[in-house]
Amino acid sequence: MNDCLFCRIVAGDIPATVVRETDTTLAFRDINPKAEVHVLVVTKEHYVDVATLAQADRELAGELLETVAVVAETEGLLADGFRTIFNTGEYGGQEVDHVHAHVLGGEPLGPMVCK
Ligand code: 5GP
Ligand code: ZN
Repeated sequence: MNDCLFCRIVAGDIPATVVRETDTTLAFRDINPKAEVHVLVVTKEHYVDVATLAQADRELAGELLETVAVVAETEGLLADGFRTIFNTGEYGGQEVDHVHAHVLGGEPLGPMVCK
């Protein structure tokens, strides 16, 4: 059995609130939103992180970004702006080892990082 959480969401084994689906990507609401709008965009195919994806499949990496842009538009984020985050690895605070973009917006997001 695949124990990757986001692979299981892609497979429909774990429910999620899907906001967009393409042949190769899935966008769904984060279970613990950090902003008014907080959507996760994943590739259906499993890649560990954005660096691995970008080096392995540039076309798919582009499709992931295209879904980010469409979600930003459909969630009404384009006018005021939004933030896209790819947490990567230990220092990046990545908790789920399946590439995902956080799309955050709907309110001012404050500083990028706290130091
Ligand atoms: P990371 O820290 O890896 O960049 O982000 C993982 C994100 O996945 C977190 O924001 C967390 O709230 C979200 N998450 C964890 N488990 C689930 C789940 O079962 N469903 C959904 N929709 N989001 C989840
Ligand atoms: Zn996975």
